[in-house]
Amino acid sequence: MMENWKIYKSFNKLNGIIAGSTTKNVEKNYSYSLAVHTGEKVDLIELNRKNFSEKFPENYKFITFLQIHSDIVIDVSDFNFYTNWYRGSIEADGMVTNKKEVVLCSLTADCLALLAFDPIAEIIGVAHAGWRGTQKNIAKNLIKKMQKLGAKIENIKVALSPSIKSCCYEVGEEVAKNFTQFSEALVKTGEKKWHLDISIVNKLQLMDLNIKEENIEVSTICTSCQNSDYFSYRKECGCTGRFINFIAMRKQD
Ligand SMILES: [Zn+2]
Repeated sequence: MMENWKIYKSFNKLNGIIAGSTTKNVEKNYSYSLAVHTGEKVDLIELNRKNFSEKFPENYKFITFLQIHSDIVIDVSDFNFYTNWYRGSIEADGMVTNKKEVVLCSLTADCLALLAFDPIAEIIGVAHAGWRGTQKNIAKNLIKKMQKLGAKIENIKVALSPSIKSCCYEVGEEVAKNFTQFSEALVKTGEKKWHLDISIVNKLQLMDLNIKEENIEVSTICTSCQNSDYFSYRKECGCTGRFINFIAMRKQD
């Protein structure tokens, strides 16, 4: 199953990194939702998390945070893990680390996750970007935080996860007005109706920081269109689980 999750071609060819996005599994509790904040029985979700963590070598640590649609990115390099899973009472929407064998996890259902890696400086980062985080340009904070640890713009590779795409993401004026400068990402479809693609906005924001276009991989998957494999908040009318977008560095000898 782990192999099905490794959807990011640009990371798969690199030795030092494990990255991917989980998919639904109807044979598991709540179709393999991995979120403990969406109202399901936590002990059953914990079984899914246990199953997820068992795909990795035994000593790996896992970290999630309480995502609040902010632009806060924290450095968790010196983080103390008291258990195998840090379950996230920290409010933030991004994390970076220079530690190996730490799995940074972002839970989504339609929102975008950014997975970033500098293979030379050996720094990774993850961020959660819905329209609010995108409007606040969390991509910029993620990259800045990685640079603070020693990452170099020219070496950073970013993968943008499956997310709801413009085919399915209709927004009103209050959302659309924040993205009028991104004409490639915003299509007017009617009186006060637009369709928005936040993955395109994030890609443009990354390119504004001089991240090379060939170093940005954008998943073509729309979570709403491909709802059989991915949770979609919109498609499932708000009653839905979350999948995990993850990235970790391996120790190499
Ligand atoms: Zn779609």
